Parts: sequence; structure tokens; C-alpha cells
Amino acid sequence: MAFDESCIFCKIVHKQIPASIIYEGEAALAFLDIRPLNLGHALVIPKSHFVDIFDSPSITLSKVHAAAKIVSTAIKKATNCDGISIIQQNGKAAGQDIFHLHVHVVPRFEGQKMPSFSELKEVERSKLDDMAKKIKKYL
Ligand SMILES: [Zn+2]
Repeated sequence: MAFDESCIFCKIVHKQIPASIIYEGEAALAFLDIRPLNLGHALVIPKSHFVDIFDSPSITLSKVHAAAKIVSTAIKKATNCDGISIIQQNGKAAGQDIFHLHVHVVPRFEGQKMPSFSELKEVERSKLDDMAKKIKKYL
């Protein structure tokens, strides 16, 4: 498994830094975004270090999106949201901020606009952990 020691998401995969993990499969990991649009906003990543869609094998993208489907279903039930946005950015110009491929799974509510991710504020770990517990009940 490719590991980049300067990469924050690789550190999450290897449990070197805390994260509110909701799902772990053989190839993909999902945890709650520390700066969510709404509580329940998750990131799904490959457990191996790949930078973006160009760098990732198709099979990896397929496994990451299969995990995104699994967590989307649980997030929808846990948050009672009206919809889910799946967002994946490639390159700085596209708004990618962490250079380890990640798929945002964002619970959405009627009438709520999508701001830029850089405008979102950090949420306390305890709130993320509570929501992670709730989501895991539906997995
Ligand atoms: Zn990484």
C-alpha cells in the first residue's frame, strides 16, 4: 500500500492522527470531514496514496465509489437529508486542497446553497464522533 509520510490522509489511514471513521473496507476508508457543510459530510479515500483521478487506477476509483455508495445510504438515514452531493476535485485549480484522492459525500437540505469548501468552519471532534456513531448504526 503506497504511503506518503507527508500526507495527512495517509496518516489517517494508518491511525497516526485522529479521525471520526465511519467505514473501513479492504481498499477504501471513510471519515467525517472536520469542516463539514452539514454534520455527516464525509470523505471517502483509497487506503493507498493516490493524488487524483489521473493518478488512480480505475479499479481503485471503482472501489472508492462503491464505498461512497455504502456510506451515502447510511448518511442519508442518519441525517434525514433531502439529497446527497458527491464531489471529487482534481488539481488546485479545481479546488483540491489535500493531494490524496478524496470523494466528498455531502448531505444536502432543500434550499441550502453549496458554499466553497474553503469557507467552512472546523467542528469539535466530539460532535463528529457522535455523528459517526449514528451513521455507523446504519451500515
Ligand atoms: Zn496520502
